[in-house]
Amino acid sequence: MPEGHSVHRIANQFEAHFVGHRIAASSPQGRFADGAAQLDGLTMTDAEAVGKQLFLEFAERQDAPRRWLRVHLGIYGAWDFAGDVSVDPTVLASIGAPRRTRLRMAESEKETELTEFPPPPVGQVRVRLLTDTAVADLRGPTACEVLTPEEVAAVIATLGPDPIVDPGQASEDRFVEAVRKRRTPIGLLLMDQTVVAGIGNVYRAELLYRAGLNPHTPGNTLPEDVVRALWRDWAHLLNIGVRTGQMLTMDGLDAEGRARALANRDDRHWVYRRAGLPCRTCGTNVVLEVAAARKLYWCPVCQA
Ligand SMILES: [Zn+2]
Repeated sequence: MPEGHSVHRIANQFEAHFVGHRIAASSPQGRFADGAAQLDGLTMTDAEAVGKQLFLEFAERQDAPRRWLRVHLGIYGAWDFAGDVSVDPTVLASIGAPRRTRLRMAESEKETELTEFPPPPVGQVRVRLLTDTAVADLRGPTACEVLTPEEVAAVIATLGPDPIVDPGQASEDRFVEAVRKRRTPIGLLLMDQTVVAGIGNVYRAELLYRAGLNPHTPGNTLPEDVVRALWRDWAHLLNIGVRTGQMLTMDGLDAEGRARALANRDDRHWVYRRAGLPCRTCGTNVVLEVAAARKLYWCPVCQA
């Protein structure tokens, strides 16, 4: 499932190549025909990510009523961009010269050759957003709907803080308060999008390992400084993720180790997907258990 960093990168892609452009919206698959008709011909005026949700704003003119497209990719969703798009994952946040190509953006990113523009929609494209120079095709989302600004505000109000949207102290305080008033295990609280928006299975496991925290520890028994450190580490890892496009969670790598980690997910994590393998720190076998229907990996010694 794409975690927060992926959705921020997708928002950056829209910001760079779609915002300010008039959009031809359609639903090649047909399931979103009514929604696409509401957006067709409007100009995209904003692109925002909050946690795992993407919000694209449309309007006729700057002073006209706004409509938003809300998208949650879920587990199987993906955006396919083609035309003049930004590929270099290390510069996406600051957008260099675009390249004429195709790029799939989901949990990971993959570039393929563009032979014609716009490429014909292939398979189950829920919505196609087309400008003169770029196109974005959405497949397989769990949510795709047109909302009013009030409805968007209501959705965002249900979400916990996102350190990229609100990097300030208030977000950290909200997170700390939400965690420390609950008896729920911290391993579940980190996945609860009302507590903190954007963390998924990979970041959950890695954050707990980096903090040396047992995933079963109830939130209300955690010292305040531990919860604050957890928030700051999340902000740190999320920023790396947005910059690199990878969930790089191991610090202190030399150049070779970093190149390996970027190239291969088996070399990228402390405990995620390492069930039965020796812990990189203490050698104990990494444990796998199922928590809230998702796989949780942890070291019973380093996270005792
Ligand atoms: Zn260990």
